[in-house]
Amino acid sequence: MTMNVALNSTSQWQQEDRDHHLHPFTDTAELNQKGVRIITRGQGVYLWDSEGNKLIDGMAGLWCVNLGYGRKELADVAARQMNELAFYNTFFQTTNIPATSLATLLSEVTPDGFNRVFYGNSGSESNDTVVRLIWRYWDVREKPGKKTIISRNNAYHGSTLAGASLGGMGYMHEQGPLPLPGFEHIEEPNWYVNGGDLSPDEFGLKAARWLEEKILELGADSVAAFFGEPIQGAGGVIVPPDTYWPEIQRICRKYDILLVSDEVICGFGRTGNWFGCQTFGFEPDLMTMAKGMSSGYIPISGVMIHDRVADVLEGSGEFNHGYTYCGHPVATAVAHANISILRDEAIIERVKTDTGPYFQEILRSFEDHPLVGQVRGRGLMAAIQLVKDKANRQAFDDVGKAGAMCRNHCSDNGIIMRATGDAMLLSPPLVITRPEIDELLGSARKSLDATARDLGMM
Ligand SMILES: *Cc1c(COP(=O)(O)O)cnc(C)c1O
Repeated sequence: MTMNVALNSTSQWQQEDRDHHLHPFTDTAELNQKGVRIITRGQGVYLWDSEGNKLIDGMAGLWCVNLGYGRKELADVAARQMNELAFYNTFFQTTNIPATSLATLLSEVTPDGFNRVFYGNSGSESNDTVVRLIWRYWDVREKPGKKTIISRNNAYHGSTLAGASLGGMGYMHEQGPLPLPGFEHIEEPNWYVNGGDLSPDEFGLKAARWLEEKILELGADSVAAFFGEPIQGAGGVIVPPDTYWPEIQRICRKYDILLVSDEVICGFGRTGNWFGCQTFGFEPDLMTMAKGMSSGYIPISGVMIHDRVADVLEGSGEFNHGYTYCGHPVATAVAHANISILRDEAIIERVKTDTGPYFQEILRSFEDHPLVGQVRGRGLMAAIQLVKDKANRQAFDDVGKAGAMCRNHCSDNGIIMRATGDAMLLSPPLVITRPEIDELLGSARKSLDATARDLGMM
């Protein structure tokens, strides 16, 4: 390892990557021409690349490194567990201590009524599990016709066949035949784009009622569940109006349809509460968790199953579904340590009462910038929407160009922000301090200025 570092250089690693590594969601030819960036080290909210550049990670990796980089406790727990018991399965009437301890801890930190977990290794996998659980649930309840699942345009629920079908990303569906049959979509609750003259609260009710219209169109006897992220993450941090989720819940209960909260991003503190459904005041039947569950230190995911659903499934015979690494002892040990630190250091409370409001307040001040149409977000999750014409909420003609320009300026200014179209996304580690927020958002503002100058708007 040390040998390689001594002998290799950025250009050599880039060449190896070009020759042998296919990246996810990447235009290979474009990347290979440009050369990949190599991240070599992380500490707290900072990353370093192979050229020695220091960056503030405004995206917590990929929305996941909630605890920040370099927490030695997690590395120590992993090493200890690998030495003690690296693997054993949970299929054959066996378990391991970390898997069981984590299940208990999860029942403590999740909302009331969530007492059972089904483990997986990624958000996508766990969403597949949710679909299997839902279909099974309605079979056991002797309503086998209830199979269709409704989700939203521009939602992200992962990249497996079920995840991509649940998701509402046109550019993913295009490369299918996707979505698979039995997955239906309604429009997202995007007030800025679709709200027109309605107040956000009026629009929230209207958007929720698109679900009711869809249920009536399909027939409630055929609809199994509604699936949504409390705040859509990859879709551009689309924050629904406060009226939206309670109305969605009312509609689901009225038509006897299961409600799934995909908490892969919002879970484990991102919005200032343990789970996004708590921030928006609704009580789902199932919750998918991944990213923040281990702060990205190791792959793990899970589905929390409310007693309402778990009690029906229990006593219905074997559930013919599972993954080799369900309840993996090393992954569950690391997740347990991560969640314990989030709890014991009161990190989520700090996001709720201190760093979250501070971050959002500074960001809101960006709305005076000529390039910024809207700032939206909760807790430590936000989007800065770049627009051509603020007064008329008018987007740029060439969507994505301003975003890409801004992202490049961010990189030059020592921060990582992600661009989704022309929305600049932020989701820093939850351990970020006020001075680090000042540094991150100071550079963000500078990057907006540079982008506006490039576009001749400043
Ligand atoms: C990232 C994400 C997923 C998929 O998780 P993977 O671990 O990438 O499979 C699912 N749902 C949401 C909301 C996500 O953000």
